[in-house]
Amino acid sequence: MKPILPGATLGVMGGGQLGRMFVHAAQRLGYFTAVLDPDPESPAGRVSHHHVQADYVDVDALAHFAGLADAITTEFENVPAASLEHLAVARPVSPAAAAVAIAQDRIREKAHFVGCGVDCAPYVAVESDDVLSVVPANLFPGLLKTARLGYDGKGQQRVGSRAELVAAWKAVGQQPCVLEKLMPIDYECSVVLARGRDGLLVHYPPQRNLHRGGILAVTEAHDQALPDDVAQRAAQAALSIAEGMEYVGVLCVEFFVLEGGALVVNEMAPRPHNSGHWTTDACDVSQFELQVRTLTGLPLNPPRQHSPAVMLNLLGDLWFLEADGVRPDKPLEPRWADVLKLPGTHLHLYGKVEPRAGRKMGHLTLTGDSVAAVRSTADFAAAMLGLPIPLTE
Ligand code: ADP
Ligand code: MG
Repeated sequence: MKPILPGATLGVMGGGQLGRMFVHAAQRLGYFTAVLDPDPESPAGRVSHHHVQADYVDVDALAHFAGLADAITTEFENVPAASLEHLAVARPVSPAAAAVAIAQDRIREKAHFVGCGVDCAPYVAVESDDVLSVVPANLFPGLLKTARLGYDGKGQQRVGSRAELVAAWKAVGQQPCVLEKLMPIDYECSVVLARGRDGLLVHYPPQRNLHRGGILAVTEAHDQALPDDVAQRAAQAALSIAEGMEYVGVLCVEFFVLEGGALVVNEMAPRPHNSGHWTTDACDVSQFELQVRTLTGLPLNPPRQHSPAVMLNLLGDLWFLEADGVRPDKPLEPRWADVLKLPGTHLHLYGKVEPRAGRKMGHLTLTGDSVAAVRSTADFAAAMLGLPIPLTE
């Protein structure tokens, strides 16, 4: 296939912050953009040349969208795979519906990991009553996760016993789930990679991630973030997971590093990822530009990181910090001007109108000429913004 060159229009299914950053990267390269998202105020819709405000399964809207866009990608994994399939009849679509369908469903996702020879936490698929009584006892305590539509820790329940499992499965309406053993996690890491239509694979150095309350809080990307052997094993595992489904596009694979050093894969996202946001400010090519390149068939070069980086997620909670023990009743804008006085700060806000607790409003990347400098700036910035300190545990 010949590359789709700048001047063409690139479409993205979903109008969240990932779509917005895709749109920015595409426009910088001289593409026009189209976003499909029902929300008139969606972060990506507001900055795109075209915004189709319709449901993801609206057949007429999909046809209109395919008419606008020369190639189509997605920014969230819950886009109906059938809609991607539908679009793929008319236009190049990446990642493919088949890959998105695997990542959408924890049962299929784990089977794929196992098939690629990559270890995941011990688990069973819970799809009918029969399994409940034969679940191996060593899976307790465990986490019951809905197979579909979970994100940021939503759709997960801790279960300590078979009785709790039965109750938890009832509580989610007996929908398909996985029960996963609770693992002794030392820390977490992830790998962002891109694979072209020609099969060429490139990846960023793996990054270390700290979650709070099931939501990514801090990412560290520098040569002290992870032991070399962990980084190498994670990258190798991520590459085989992508190869194993002939993936085309940007993929993020998340891992647990267990006490003792063993690595187990957790989940994957068929798109750029929050833990790869640092690449925009600390690499010669961002994960969003790689998404553009894989979609259009432009060449891929191995990305080069030119600065150590720390990324802090900015959740809506920061707009409601208590002052003198009182929670403000209206959102208060955080101290951006003070934070931006610090050297090497890169502020990204997603243009969401309404800050809410737990809502991803933006992120702050810190770069500098040494790991120590970047970490210390990150600490200062966190203190100013009212983020929990220390940043890492
Ligand atoms: P989500 O799709 O919401 O990101 P994850 O499966 O990644 O769901 O879980 C969110 C977080 O919960 C993980 O990053 C990890 O910190 C914790 N977690 C998930 N599964 C396990 C497990 N089996 N053992 C221990 N902690 C877990
Ligand atoms: Mg996760």
